[in-house]
Amino acid sequence: MTAKSVTILGAGIVGLTSAHALAEAGYKVHVIETADAPATGASQSNGFQLSYGYLAPPFTFWEVARRFKSMLCGTTPHTTIAHVKRRELIKHWHWFARALWHTMPFNYRKNFREVLKLGQLSQFNLQAFMSGDGKDFKFDYSMQGKLIVEDSKKHLFDDWLKAQYITAETGWPSEKFGRKKCLEALPFLEQAPHDIAGGVFSKNNHAGNCAAFCQELVKLLADKYDVTFTFNAPHAPLSHYAQHADAVVVACGFSAKSVLKGFKTYVPLYPVKGYSYDFERITPQQVYLTHKPYGFVMSDMGETTRVAGFADFVGLDTSDDATRKEALLKKVQNLFPNQKLKVVGEYMAFRPVTPNGLPIVRRVRKTNVFINTGHGMYGWTLAHGTAQKLADLVKKHIS
Ligand SMILES: Cc1cc2nc3c(=O)[nH]c(=O)nc-3n(C[C@H](O)[C@H](O)[C@H](O)COP(=O)(O)OP(=O)(O)OC[C@H]3O[C@@H](n4cnc5c(N)ncnc54)[C@H](O)[C@@H]3O)c2cc1C
Repeated sequence: MTAKSVTILGAGIVGLTSAHALAEAGYKVHVIETADAPATGASQSNGFQLSYGYLAPPFTFWEVARRFKSMLCGTTPHTTIAHVKRRELIKHWHWFARALWHTMPFNYRKNFREVLKLGQLSQFNLQAFMSGDGKDFKFDYSMQGKLIVEDSKKHLFDDWLKAQYITAETGWPSEKFGRKKCLEALPFLEQAPHDIAGGVFSKNNHAGNCAAFCQELVKLLADKYDVTFTFNAPHAPLSHYAQHADAVVVACGFSAKSVLKGFKTYVPLYPVKGYSYDFERITPQQVYLTHKPYGFVMSDMGETTRVAGFADFVGLDTSDDATRKEALLKKVQNLFPNQKLKVVGEYMAFRPVTPNGLPIVRRVRKTNVFINTGHGMYGWTLAHGTAQKLADLVKKHIS
């Protein structure tokens, strides 16, 4: 019997892990990518963090209430709804209304539990992959854990509650650090003018170079499995792919919304913009850090240090990019006032964010079209879990 064929749109981490799960299940997979290489979108620009031990839906109701005015006015340094584009709020009012609904404590808790379950599955799958197909993968994998620092006792208390909830649900341990212990763990924090109240050390946080992982995965899929690739693919309607394959998987990040237009299905995605920089390695000490007051994560990978952050709700507007990049750069420089930092790479990308903070894995009703997107802030962390969910769903309908 000939294998059923599946076309996947998108060669980011979500499309490629989906390709692996489907190829393993015996499907003949073809990956279509409009860019000229794999991982050129969010999968290239992310903070490298496999944030299992610090997974949570993005905002609680109280966080939004506290920050709303400053986000709206663009005065919150690392999250802005719009400097000039307040009309985003009006245009996408239904997305924002849903997002607000999901910050309500009863919804928040349900989503929190869901994302943790997915994180557990994802971690399990990545570990299994690394002792099998991925055992020779080189992507600077680290299991060192990470420190999340805060600037006020109140924020630290909130973080610690979150960490305790995660431990209760998953058994993943965390430790509360006072200011002194944070400075002992990462002495360079002392140079920063911004005060550090303390932190949470999350032991079950891993890290790895997502883009490097994607490159390795493309090689593996082409060499070992029945997977073919088309890069630089011209834009074609989804119906075209749906006619020429047994199944199509839409895994093209925030573009999924426009790709699925005409399929009468609601895909609640909002492109939340973020930025990142690669520096020539900043400290000799290996650092994995979330600096909450500055709104960025920092991960050391081989000879470079990746800093990624900011969450701008400005739609697909790119007009303010230079200002925002400069703001991020300034924050990093604040942390190392006496050091000349050498930038070796800079990126901007859109996270495909859903109102509840959970990825969308489902079939478009009565069609052979499947969706795997909406991984938001945690695509690198969750992709290995959603790939399995997607493969199970495809197996159920296309066999
Ligand atoms: C600044 C920043 C920091 C982040 N930090 C972290 C982190 O530390 N940890 C973490 O877990 N996550 C992090 N994320 C989130 C994570 O990077 C994303 O959730 C994840 O990369 C999404 O993967 P994706 O494959 O869905 O999308 P993408 O990586 O954007 O891939 C989508 C691909 O689809 C292609 N495409 C678009 N349209 C079409 C089409 N019509 N046909 C074919 N192909 C198409 C695009 O060219 C692209 O290659 C971060 C994101 C950003 C922006």
